[in-house]
Amino acid sequence: MHAPTLVINCGSSSIKYALIPASAESPRQFGLAERLGSAEAILNGTDGRGESFARALPGADHATALETILGCLEGQHPGAVGHRIVHGGERFTRAVLIDDDVVAEIEATAALAPLHNPANLEGVMATRTLFPQLPQVAVFDTAFHQSLPPRAYRYALPEALYRDHGIRRYGFHGTSHAHVSSRADALAGIRGGWLTAHLGNGCSTCAVWQGESLDTSMGLTPLEGLVMGTRSGDVDPGLHAHLARQLGWSLDDIDRVLNRDSGLVGLSGLSNDMRELEQAASEGHAGARLAIEVFCYRVAKSLAALSCALPRLDGIVFTGGIGENASAVRQRIVAALPHFGIALDDDANDATVRGREGRIDAGGPQLWVIPTDEEGRIALETRQLIEEACA
Ligand code: AMP
Repeated sequence: MHAPTLVINCGSSSIKYALIPASAESPRQFGLAERLGSAEAILNGTDGRGESFARALPGADHATALETILGCLEGQHPGAVGHRIVHGGERFTRAVLIDDDVVAEIEATAALAPLHNPANLEGVMATRTLFPQLPQVAVFDTAFHQSLPPRAYRYALPEALYRDHGIRRYGFHGTSHAHVSSRADALAGIRGGWLTAHLGNGCSTCAVWQGESLDTSMGLTPLEGLVMGTRSGDVDPGLHAHLARQLGWSLDDIDRVLNRDSGLVGLSGLSNDMRELEQAASEGHAGARLAIEVFCYRVAKSLAALSCALPRLDGIVFTGGIGENASAVRQRIVAALPHFGIALDDDANDATVRGREGRIDAGGPQLWVIPTDEEGRIALETRQLIEEACA
């Protein structure tokens, strides 16, 4: 397939898109339509020459925004559309061509991702109406983790909760962990055992053995695991009952605080942005220092725990806005894992920022910084599936 692939990530009031050419050398066009449904709706994008543009879209819905986006692609016609779908439940273990049955299955999984799946589906429905002739593919955040064994995905809860209600660990950020682990395999020239750390606004770790996810830090929802920008990550499960009984908090209060007011912003009392926290910490802000310390310790602790899933540890891969840029954070995480026997190359670590790919160890298990490319991975899986279907 030589035509470019249009990748769409649809939120409740936004559409993030990227037009990914079949050849890695050609430039990408990408953009974000935001505040859809309101008078302030706007599309910001970058054209084929890398020039930025902005279009006001007052009152536009998803379908209108998609039509405008297509009009901005400068005569480049996509050959297929790849949709990011957050939750594929247990049904979807890989990307699939979208038909009515797949739409119905994604709808049925909405209870597991009530904020994301219905919004993702809006994009699917609008695209199907606008371009009925284009093949559409669903690529799931959860699919890469469907290789987890039961010992990793089951909670120690009554069996009926799993059997009748699908309550288990699913894991997320699958396209990112899949991309950076396969890139690490290619760079190291092995089918290895990798611990991957996706550290951005959302954060998760994953143990990958020969291309398969064996365990990951996120669970039923993307709240489990590491400290994130605004999410708490792991807390005592007894906390919820305690807050309800002792403070009279409602379920919505608890959900909001754990998802939006916790993590780096909760600990620091300042910001969810690692750059701001590093600046404030260097000026002596105690909350910022504590937030960075807890963040790094929890990443190290998670990596150490996930190492149990691997028959052999070949190395650690850092990705995401923090993982790719914050060399001091990487240094702290590695320092908290002395028993891994890794030697960090300080110069290489300091030099590897701003989306650069690089190896930053000086012996022992390898350390890689590999920029994530979720859109590129969605386009790749979309192309592969269509080529298989045509073969
Ligand atoms: P993402 O969600 O992957 O875009 O990552 C967002 C996070 O990456 C935010 O916490 C940013 O502060 C952080 N980040 C981006 N650039 C840098 C940088 N140069 N140094 C430290 N953190 C960064």
